[in-house]
Amino acid sequence: MKANKIDGKALAAAVKAEAARQAAELKARGVTPCLAVVLVGEDPASQVYVRGKISDCAQCGIESRSIRLPETATQAELLDQVRALAADPAVHGILVQLPLPPRIDEKAVIEAIPPEKDVDGFSPVNVGRMQIGEPCYLPCTPAGCIRMIESTGTSIAGKRAVVIGRSNIVGKPAALLLLAKDATVTICHSRTQNLKEICASADILVAAVGKPGFVTADMVKPGAVVIDVGINRGADGKLRGDVDFDAAAEKAAWITPVPGGVGPMTRAMLMLNTVEAARRAARG
Ligand code: NAD
Repeated sequence: MKANKIDGKALAAAVKAEAARQAAELKARGVTPCLAVVLVGEDPASQVYVRGKISDCAQCGIESRSIRLPETATQAELLDQVRALAADPAVHGILVQLPLPPRIDEKAVIEAIPPEKDVDGFSPVNVGRMQIGEPCYLPCTPAGCIRMIESTGTSIAGKRAVVIGRSNIVGKPAALLLLAKDATVTICHSRTQNLKEICASADILVAAVGKPGFVTADMVKPGAVVIDVGINRGADGKLRGDVDFDAAAEKAAWITPVPGGVGPMTRAMLMLNTVEAARRAARG
């Protein structure tokens, strides 16, 4: 392996320490940051994610509320819950764990979260503010990717960045944040032609496809920074990224592992957003 590994766990620990320090400062001023996490149903992966977020809160000195609704909960019940949290001044951040059961309108639920408590950064107002470069909560996964790239000392400005994936929660915002840092950005997706050539031209390659080992060595430019967002669970139960790590690491200068890369950073960025939400609420 020639590439340097970008250690997501170590970076996440540093970000969480920063969140903890800010939470302690707020507490000293009488404000305890509080995150409410709403989970509908019994999806095992979602339960693991929610437990992780609650335990991150505890580590950072952030209060958490875990709200569980049964799989049979109606959209009206979920919306009532979100509205109650929206009206509660002691709650600074609201996160509804996705995906929701198919009969619930995800868009309506996200829109019910007031922008000032939307610490996931998914609401249309936050997305719009990000688009025009106004203060907002940045979505945690793409914001974590940017921190990981910057942790390598690589200057993003002027670099050719390629993002594979155009989802609203990862691909599109990752591309926007790279653009905001003055990269020249290309977004690739399921209908892209000449994908391999485009990826092989990238100084910074972000893979958010959801297909294990999708990015092969021939798609990696020598010396590139490769960020693997993918989380794919194999039949053996092991987590794999979207990048063929061993092969790509022979060519890249920097690469994130899976697990231990973008995942921990995503969680850490949520803590920073929650503390920021509490700070803004305290300012009034
Ligand atoms: P998604 O399914 O919404 O989007 C996948 C994207 O990949 C789509 O835009 C699609 O156009 C593109 N795509 C699919 N097939 C392609 C192909 N053959 N060539 C080029 N592009 C193709 O997924 P998502 O929510 O954006 O998540 C992507 C991956 O990131 C998943 O593995 C998910 O589990 C993972 N993820 C990780 C974190 C984290 O914290 N690490 C957070 C969110 C998502």
